Amino acid sequence: MTQTDEVRGDSGPEVAALVASRVLDVPDFPKPGIVFKDLMPLFADGTVFRQVIDGIVAHHGTGSFDVVAGVEARGFVVAAAIAYATGKGVVPVRKAGKLPRKTYSASYALEYGEATLEVHEDAFVAGERVLVVDDVLATGGTAGAALDLVERAGGTVSGFTVLMELGFLDGRKRLAPRTVHALLTV
Ligand code: AMP
Repeated sequence: MTQTDEVRGDSGPEVAALVASRVLDVPDFPKPGIVFKDLMPLFADGTVFRQVIDGIVAHHGTGSFDVVAGVEARGFVVAAAIAYATGKGVVPVRKAGKLPRKTYSASYALEYGEATLEVHEDAFVAGERVLVVDDVLATGGTAGAALDLVERAGGTVSGFTVLMELGFLDGRKRLAPRTVHALLTV
């Protein structure tokens, strides 16, 4: 069995293997029992980062969404690159208290705690199609909160893209019928 046979993802085994080759498992971070998937090596490798972004752009094309929403903080890195590559704008979905103007706010449970996300009330033009981006999909709580915020702010979520999905936590089911594109599923 080759390395590419062992990994799976929605853009095929080669891209999945590429992502897998640049993820570090950090046990017991940020608390005991959690294996943190650290994607900093992927971001730091210019060749791999570009291949990964190209894989995401190839999947979605440029016609299926109008703007990219990135979830703080690692989602910003991916969202900005997709936005630049496709000529779209980028909207930050931020942690509580960071945005300067009027916001919508959504609280949710994380794999390792609780959090609140916010988006500016005027972040989207009514009906704008929004691609929501983050680094890791775990339980889907974060993506679900982002979905809620985008729709309250007048956008329509066209789909979700993540570099990596923890399939055993079933986040994807929670977001159905919206589609999730994960480059690597473990
Ligand atoms: P969840 O809301 O459970 O889907 O968690 C996803 C969010 O928390 C994303 O913003 C991830 O960056 C972060 N996250 C959750 N679990 C992990 C993990 N095991 N490794 C890295 N990031 C994680």
